[in-house]
Amino acid sequence: VLGVSHEDGELKIKYNREGITPAQKREIEDQIYQAIGTRFDQDKIVIMTVSESSTEVLDAAAASNSKNNTDQASRQKAGLKVGHGTVGTPKKIDGIKKIIAVASGKGGVGKSTFTANLACTLANQGLKVGVIDADIYGPSIPMIMGVRAEKPLASKDKKIMPIEKHGVKLMSFGFFIEEKDPVIWRGPMLGGVLNQFLFDVEWGELDYLILDLPPGTGDIQLSMMQNASVDGAVIISTPQDVALLDAVKALEMFKKLKLPIYGLVENMAYFVCDECGKNHHIFGEQGVQKGAKELGEKFLGSIPLELALRTAADVGHPYMAQPANEGTQVWNGFSTVAKALTDGDNKPNKGILKSLFS
Ligand code: ADP
Repeated sequence: VLGVSHEDGELKIKYNREGITPAQKREIEDQIYQAIGTRFDQDKIVIMTVSESSTEVLDAAAASNSKNNTDQASRQKAGLKVGHGTVGTPKKIDGIKKIIAVASGKGGVGKSTFTANLACTLANQGLKVGVIDADIYGPSIPMIMGVRAEKPLASKDKKIMPIEKHGVKLMSFGFFIEEKDPVIWRGPMLGGVLNQFLFDVEWGELDYLILDLPPGTGDIQLSMMQNASVDGAVIISTPQDVALLDAVKALEMFKKLKLPIYGLVENMAYFVCDECGKNHHIFGEQGVQKGAKELGEKFLGSIPLELALRTAADVGHPYMAQPANEGTQVWNGFSTVAKALTDGDNKPNKGILKSLFS
C-alpha cells in the first residue's frame, strides 16, 4: 500500500499492482470494499493502482478521480470507476438529441440483436447513433457488432472513447470484463459505472443514443432511467403470452417513472420458410400487436425469425449492416420500426390527456 488519504470527502487508497493478476486485483479490491464499505460510503472510496511498467494502465477510479495523479500516460486504456451511483434528477447529455431505451421483460427475446440492428438501420440513414450496452448479465453488443476484442481508450480529458463500428459508437460492460468472468460486476456497485457510460463517454454529437437495458425491472434499469433524460422506451417481446406478460411489467415500470413509451416491437414474429414460402407463426400470431392494442400503446413493427439474422449477429456483422439484405422481410421490419421511431409525428405515448392537450 503506497498511501491512504482522506481528501475532499473521498477516501483514497493507492497500492502497487505490479505482479498482481487481474483476479488477485479484484480480490484485493473486493476485500477493501468489504472491510470498509460498511463504514464508508462506497461511492467515496477511490482505489488507485500504480504500476512501474510504462504500458500498464491505471484504473478509471484513479484516472477520473485523482486530480493530482502524476502517474498517467496521456493516452491510456480507459477503465471504470466502481462504486454506488447517485440517483439525481434526469440530466441531458451534451450533444445528444434523443435517448431511447430498449427494454424487455425477460432475457432471450432478442433485445440486443434488435438494438444493434436498429442502430445500424438508423446509421444507414445517415444518422449519428450510439449504443450503451447496459446488459451486465450478458453484454452481447460487442459480439453482435464484431468488436469483442476492443478495449476503449481514455481521451486527454479522461473521458472514455467509445468504440466505433458499422457507423455506430458503442460502449459496453463487455469491453471491461473478461468474457468468462462477469460475476464481479454483479451486485450493487454498478450504478456509478452506468453513470460513467452516460456522462463520461466522449459521445460527441449524436442524433440517437440507444440504451440496451438489462432484462427485467431491477435497480439498474431504475437508476439509469432516473439519471439520464430518456426520451422514451421501446419494449420488445416475442409473441407468446408469457413473454408478453413480462413485457407488461417493464411497461408498468416505465409508466411509474413517468417515462414516455414509444411502443412495442414483436421479435421472432414468424418464421419465413425458404422451402414452402409460407410464414409460420411458431410463437403464436400477432401476440404483441394484440397486446399493444389492449394496453393502448403503439405497435411499432415486427421482425421475423430469420436464420441469417442470428448468424450475422454471431459473426459480428449485423444483418442491417449488410446492404445485400435490402428488401427482405427482416430488412423491411427494421426499417418500419426505425421509421416509426424517427417520424416527427410519432412522438412517444405520453398518455391520453397529455396527447389531447399538446
Ligand atoms: P436478449 O438480448 O433479449 O437476451 P439476444 O439478442 O441475445 O436476446 O437474442 C437471443 C438469441 O436469439 C441470439 O442468438 C440471437 O441471435 C437470436 N435472435 C434474436 N432475434 C432473432 C430473430 N429475429 N431471428 C433469429 N434469431 C434471433
